[in-house]
Amino acid sequence: MAKGQARSGGEALSKLVRDIKNCRLCVDTPTGPVLPHEPRPVLQVNAMARIGVFGQAPGLKVHHSGRPFTDPSGVRLRAWMGVSEEEFYDSTRVAIVPMGFCFPGYNAKGADLPPRKECAPQWRQRVMDNLPKLEVALLVGRYAQAWHLGQLDRATLTETVKTWREVISQTSPKLFPLPHPSWRNNAWIKTNPWFEADLLPELRALVRQGLCGC
Ligand code: SF4
Repeated sequence: MAKGQARSGGEALSKLVRDIKNCRLCVDTPTGPVLPHEPRPVLQVNAMARIGVFGQAPGLKVHHSGRPFTDPSGVRLRAWMGVSEEEFYDSTRVAIVPMGFCFPGYNAKGADLPPRKECAPQWRQRVMDNLPKLEVALLVGRYAQAWHLGQLDRATLTETVKTWREVISQTSPKLFPLPHPSWRNNAWIKTNPWFEADLLPELRALVRQGLCGC
């Protein structure tokens, strides 16, 4: 891509991010219950990013910090990827784009609600169109897998993550299905030892390659 095109792509993305930051869809014209707080969209994007982290939605800690993955899940995700905080929060290398940009609130049992349904149809394709350099994207959890994988998505998280070799070989950028790094998945990690033994080393190698652009 010529320099001028890269600059105009970056400008288009900056304008898009400004529009997202001003979004009030889930408060003003929601398709379901009104968002129970003021919107605070949290994402990290730059047109130069080569690695994508596509998760679910911010939790309360991230809602307060305004920065993605500033919670124990983020610590574990960075360990899975083999990256430092400095690398993870370098937007020219890593784009962090959850399926819902705002904290969705809690359900009656005190668990995080799913990503807001309004968000992906409104914004997601436009954000993806402005990340032309992506080489590898981590699909963290079922919502990102359902949106990005289409027919490659399987019936369950385990089946989908188990087919990671097939998925990365058939997608460009390489899409890497993962469970959510929450402590809630500790039992899943224990009962699927191939995840740490086989998948994570390959993930780290691909991430390292994307970070250096080599
Ligand atoms: S979750 Fe998405 S659609 Fe809803 S208010 Fe936030 S940015 Fe807008």
